[in-house]
Amino acid sequence: MGKLFEDALKRVDAAADRLNLDENIYKILRKPKKQVIVSVPVEMDDGSIKVFDGYRVHYNVAMGPAKGGIRFHPNVTLDEVKTLAMWMTWKCAVANIPYGGAKGGIAVDPKKLSKKELERLTRRYIAEIIDLIGPDIDVPAPDVNTNPEIMGWIVDTYSMHMRRTVTSVVTGKPVFLGGSLGRKEATGRGVMLMVREAGKVFGLPIEKSTVAVQGFGNVGSIAASLIARQGAKVVALSDVNGGIYNKNGIDVDAALKKVAETGTVTGLAGTQPITNEELLELNVDYLVPAALENQITEKNADKIQAKIIVEGANGPTTTKADKILHDRGIILIPDILSNAGGVTVSYFEWVQDREGYFWKESVVNERLEEIMVNAFKDVYGMSKKYNETMRMGAYMLAIKRVADVTKARGIYA
Ligand code: NAD
Repeated sequence: MGKLFEDALKRVDAAADRLNLDENIYKILRKPKKQVIVSVPVEMDDGSIKVFDGYRVHYNVAMGPAKGGIRFHPNVTLDEVKTLAMWMTWKCAVANIPYGGAKGGIAVDPKKLSKKELERLTRRYIAEIIDLIGPDIDVPAPDVNTNPEIMGWIVDTYSMHMRRTVTSVVTGKPVFLGGSLGRKEATGRGVMLMVREAGKVFGLPIEKSTVAVQGFGNVGSIAASLIARQGAKVVALSDVNGGIYNKNGIDVDAALKKVAETGTVTGLAGTQPITNEELLELNVDYLVPAALENQITEKNADKIQAKIIVEGANGPTTTKADKILHDRGIILIPDILSNAGGVTVSYFEWVQDREGYFWKESVVNERLEEIMVNAFKDVYGMSKKYNETMRMGAYMLAIKRVADVTKARGIYA
């Protein structure tokens, strides 16, 4: 068993224990349903051939078709894909949308490929896993280093094999190719909603709060922008090049403009530079890690001064850090709840494709808000009932939902 998966299972074990879950059902939930490794040969522009390792894991499909992104990154391993597929299972269950969990990836540095090579890589990978995906089977989406354009190639490859156009095979597509309005902003919007809801129950109203956001990509930039629009003071932002700080609040629109022009938030006029490490340790009401996994660990958890952490990224806090934060009275809104906005609007995209009828952006946002607010209430209710953290509440809620369905369906033999 890989290290990441092993660590991730600790939270699952703890939640199952606390729920007194039927051991026989739990044996099923602890295992991925299907793990596939494929070789992906690609003809490079110079005529040579390179062979990449591709993965697709269906973690659990009790609730419906498997759902999860495709990652292109040199560090992709079966262990990572399996763990991300498990997190997707719990995330969909927390949001209460009718999906199981999946993930896929290719161990490749896409920055080293030309666009044509990237397209050939994507199409061959999809051809290799074609029997595993489909609107009723498994619906991929973008993840790290994959984007709407790549989703377009996937629609085309799948459609050519099926001899008809099937847009609902992936989500996160360009809007003109069966994508949904509001999908691009959905994860950041969900993060903002979770800050707002946390503010209500934990007595730190968003409009009176100070906020630091680590990572200024899709999730971080939209979250920062919408949080500022709610009246909060966003005092720090960062990206891979470093961070910026202004105790009186940063003009997030100016930061967006700066990134569009120069590719980085660093050096924004009217701010002082800080490091990513310093950003995490600022004395703010809300800290939103929205960059990478493993940012808050046992090494810095005792230095965090934020009152509430709202996880935008997947897995930014380690299990050991969770305990330190909890002991210090810091509240944490966990990733499987707080970044579920993306998969929720992916679900809306799939519904719209299947209906062949597309919604206004205001309808998408309204329905997203309803699902996110209900998920927050369900997790909060669970954590109160059992006197546990929001992380534990979210895991207990998700595991109970998947366990109940598994039990009701029974074992096919
Ligand atoms: P992105 O690539 O658009 O943005 C990532 C940001 O993090 C960039 O600003 C980048 O400069 C910054 N970054 C990279 N390395 C960093 C480092 N070492 N220190 C500080 N900042 C660094 O990615 P994204 O889509 O915004 O995803 C961010 C996180 O959110 C990931 O963990 C992803 O899995 C998770 N997530 C994304 C979505 C979605 O819909 N995009 C949904 C759920 C979860």
